[in-house]
Amino acid sequence: MRIPCPYCGERDAHEFSYLGDATLTRPDPAAADAEQAFHDYVYLRDNPAGAHEEWWYHANGCRQWLRVTRDTRTHAISGAAPARKSGEPA
Ligand SMILES: [Zn+2]
Repeated sequence: MRIPCPYCGERDAHEFSYLGDATLTRPDPAAADAEQAFHDYVYLRDNPAGAHEEWWYHANGCRQWLRVTRDTRTHAISGAAPARKSGEPA
């Protein structure tokens, strides 16, 4: 599997570390159901079939976090973008 790093170009997946689902949103700690929401956020995962957005870290390259779109059935990578959107603070 090859990942098109926006900084380094297309590289082998062995240069990267996988973190997980990039679609999760951290729950509001002040919400009334915060305990259950954090349990679900930390422990429960979907197992999607098809295109999925994931966090990958280019550990043996530019050391940047990427948001990679990968088809979980074929491992085909359809896109990779910097994790931080332009204009966001460092
Ligand atoms: Zn890179």
